[in-house]
Amino acid sequence: MEKTRNYLYYDQDESLCSKDPDCLRRVPAKVILKDNRVFMDKYCREHGHERVLLSTDANYYRQGREVFLKHSEMPGFFQTKMKYNCPYDCGLCPDHEQHSCLTLIEITDRCNLSCPTCFTLSSPSSGSHRSLDEVKKMMDLVVRSEGEPDVVQISGGEPTVHPQFFEILDEAKKRPIKNLMVNTNGVRIAREPGFADRLAQYMPRLEMYLQFDSFKSEALTKIRGEDLTDVRYKAIEHLNERNFPATLVSTLQRGVNTDEIGKIIKYGLEQRSVRGVTFQPTQRAGRNDNFNPVTERYTLTEVRQAILDQTSIFQPNDIIPVPCNPDSIFMGYALRFNGQVHPLTRYLDPKTLIEGARNTIVFEHDPQLRKSLMMKIFSTGSSHETASDSLQTLLCCLPQVSAPSFKYENLFRIIGIRFMDAYDFSVRAVKKSCVHIVDPKGEKLIPIETMNLFYRQGMEEKLRQLREEIVPSETPQRGVALPILR
Ligand code: SF4
Ligand code: SF4
Ligand SMILES: [Zn+2]
Repeated sequence: MEKTRNYLYYDQDESLCSKDPDCLRRVPAKVILKDNRVFMDKYCREHGHERVLLSTDANYYRQGREVFLKHSEMPGFFQTKMKYNCPYDCGLCPDHEQHSCLTLIEITDRCNLSCPTCFTLSSPSSGSHRSLDEVKKMMDLVVRSEGEPDVVQISGGEPTVHPQFFEILDEAKKRPIKNLMVNTNGVRIAREPGFADRLAQYMPRLEMYLQFDSFKSEALTKIRGEDLTDVRYKAIEHLNERNFPATLVSTLQRGVNTDEIGKIIKYGLEQRSVRGVTFQPTQRAGRNDNFNPVTERYTLTEVRQAILDQTSIFQPNDIIPVPCNPDSIFMGYALRFNGQVHPLTRYLDPKTLIEGARNTIVFEHDPQLRKSLMMKIFSTGSSHETASDSLQTLLCCLPQVSAPSFKYENLFRIIGIRFMDAYDFSVRAVKKSCVHIVDPKGEKLIPIETMNLFYRQGMEEKLRQLREEIVPSETPQRGVALPILR
């Protein structure tokens, strides 16, 4: 008789029940490894058993859990007490294990598109704009929590449709934000004469986080509701003309645009203004009209494998977990120079990334890095101008790269980021979420994953019911306000 399980029991976690359609009860979840895949076995007392795929590469998953592990950095203060336990106490409660590496300020619910998949449910007529005073309050919360916030994204909806968009940028510029980004679909940049020029007045320290999902009109129509091919090319053209830094952001759906991952990277590398590409598998949140989560869900390890398969630039040790949130973010760096691309991450010792809070990889001081890369670069027989500015990253959880002999435009980043939904939710992992949204009242910083599950407008009653099951309202109020746990 077989007495051994056919899987390796790896961990015990907690998740959410994603059945019926969103029960959202916190449920026990066993993490198992089987055939180099990672699954979560969940059990809801009402809806029974669920087995979900977390990762298609158990070795990479274990690296994230066991190697790229570093001390958590804390926010300046916590905004809620612990009472119902994670994830029903956002945000940020003292149980959270990461500060805001990146904060989103949603200045409007409206958008000039109505994409079939949109986690903010935006459209030209939905919701409203935040007032300038409300936006200022939201920004001030981020500054109070972070001191000098690493990255703040002005987001929406589509932030550029806000009637006071430029006044909001003026306000952001007055605050000590290290890197400011605008999370945009590019429609105004592409179509409106003078808009890119006006934006360019805010350079430097402003970058576009530019939607760029596909080159195929069918895929764009499926993901965005219309064929935006002209918008994509025109927006890039206008940014290139001004050497305006941009990150291309691709929302991925299996079988829709996952075959274009290599092509998007190649295209990005050829564009003067593009400093990197971020790939983001679609989550089940908000409006998911054309998205079938059963067949079109894509895991982060599949994104990583597609990058390796569809380009000839990177090898496995070039794309590694980001230590402050290894379950959800991977990164790869390259230097591009005179048409050539030189991967950088393979030369990094994981220790450089996990020891200390904010490490800087000083290119000139790292003999191996310098030798390996400089030899290659100079062997092309090319010369390069020296710039005084250093190469920096735009996610604080990524190492800073200081290389005074190169310009920021020589650096190219590949980022993969997934936002968990109820299906693949992990209480352990969400505590390390480092992408936070400011709530519309400007009082709380809420992890993007839990914001989309529990804390948006219209979700109050569901959250109330879930909390009531945990602590019935007749129970005496006993919220625990803990100091920073050390
Ligand atoms: S996600 Fe973070 S802030 Fe929210 S309840 Fe869990 S630990 Fe607290
Ligand atoms: S996904 Fe972005 S571009 Fe599309 S409707 Fe939503 S906010 Fe607008
Ligand atoms: Zn359930």
